[in-house]
Amino acid sequence: MLFERQTFLVAGLSRSGIASAEYLRGKGAAVYLYDDVDDENVRSAQARLKELGCIPVAKNELDEKTEKCDVLVLSPGIPIDHPLPVSFKRAGKRVLGETEIAALALRCPVVAVTGTNGKTTTVTMLESILKQAGKNAIACGNVGRPLTTCLDELGEDGIAVAEISSFQLETLVSLRPHVAVVLNVTEDHLNRHYTLENYIYLKSRILKNCTESEYAVLNYDDPTVRSFAEKTKANVVWFSLRERVAGGYLADGWFCYKGEKVCSEEELPLGGDHNRMNALAAICAAKLFGADNASISEALKNFRGVRHRLQTIGELNGVTFIDDSKATNVDSAVKAIGSVKGESVILLGGKDKGYSYEPLFDEMKGSNVVHAVIYGENAFRILSAALKRGYTSVSLCRPFDMAVRVAYLTAKSGQNVLLSPASASFDAFRSFEERGERFAELLELLRAEYAPAKPAEAAPELAEDGFDGTE
Ligand code: ADP
Repeated sequence: MLFERQTFLVAGLSRSGIASAEYLRGKGAAVYLYDDVDDENVRSAQARLKELGCIPVAKNELDEKTEKCDVLVLSPGIPIDHPLPVSFKRAGKRVLGETEIAALALRCPVVAVTGTNGKTTTVTMLESILKQAGKNAIACGNVGRPLTTCLDELGEDGIAVAEISSFQLETLVSLRPHVAVVLNVTEDHLNRHYTLENYIYLKSRILKNCTESEYAVLNYDDPTVRSFAEKTKANVVWFSLRERVAGGYLADGWFCYKGEKVCSEEELPLGGDHNRMNALAAICAAKLFGADNASISEALKNFRGVRHRLQTIGELNGVTFIDDSKATNVDSAVKAIGSVKGESVILLGGKDKGYSYEPLFDEMKGSNVVHAVIYGENAFRILSAALKRGYTSVSLCRPFDMAVRVAYLTAKSGQNVLLSPASASFDAFRSFEERGERFAELLELLRAEYAPAKPAEAAPELAEDGFDGTE
């Protein structure tokens, strides 16, 4: 694709849209900018990009300007059935995303990591391992930096460790990862992809360009992911907690890879089977890039997790506050329930994504969760699922701030208040990060009220993630 000869419309001025516009202008392309939203962030992005020669387009001139454009660059936040991409497709024009632009220009190998849950954790872990092994690895894509901003730094010898969401897969056709990792597929984003089949199909597209020269690292324990092996030409490397597969597995307290002990299970500071699975996936991918066992062990030992993922943020009168705000679907909340130590009062709710909450309550019966405080826009859908499954230890309290207070007052000393909401945050917050930050602020407000003499505890340092709109 000759960028300089084309006229692009970049729609959606979030991180990836801004990166696309900068990259394309750098290549000499003509770039128009559009965003449905007109807020401070968008206006300041427009002003900066205007200095590079990009041209902002107002809503009332969109049709006229669209006529002039050859290609639409769609932000992952905008659905593929939005009128804008539909009109480009009808006119026989290309619709692509920032990751696709990068895929067309990449010169180094890529590890592409997808799955419903665990992408950021795995990508961050894998980047640390590869760096420890002396490689020029960069975590990018839906986490960290947009891929186009890493191209120069990666050159030919680097390794792009790219987190790829289903939203990005909608507009990604050219990526041919050297290693494609699929962590798991459970119900999510049905409000965007409509059916589970469509969501599964999108996830499987990560493998579509892989040939016999590439590798597919697949979760053996997940039936949907296991079935992907039948459709790919890539060499399959499995990972499993249940069986000694040809790939990564656990045996006698060791993370193993193809018959070899890589490092002790105890080295991993993160709890939960889901994190052991993430570590196994990262180990498989690292091994395929020649990482040595000492580097893997060292990197895992020092891995402290990523913010807003089962992060203990403090304690008040014996009640521990755990921020798992990134648990934006049922499976991630189920994993939290299974891995948090001690009894918990769980906070559930937010923006609905169209799936059933009933499996969550099946899981909660007989678990360490003693009570659920349900809040947010989808509170009544969650309540009705709870009652349908016979789970009655619930309070309904719609505003988030009040729900956190109720959860704290309900929890006894020795128990946790666990924010693992199984829902997106967009009903009341701009992102799951903002929801997590508010949770931490509320802890401090409660601290001032209920333990005024105690100084605030500092939260442990964790890796920052750079999220671009997928929840
Ligand atoms: P993603 O980038 O795919 O959203 P994260 O690593 O950010 O994944 O984790 C999101 C949520 O899912 C967190 O609540 C986390 O504790 C949970 N989680 C992490 N890994 C897994 C996994 N392998 N399976 C299920 N849940 C997971």
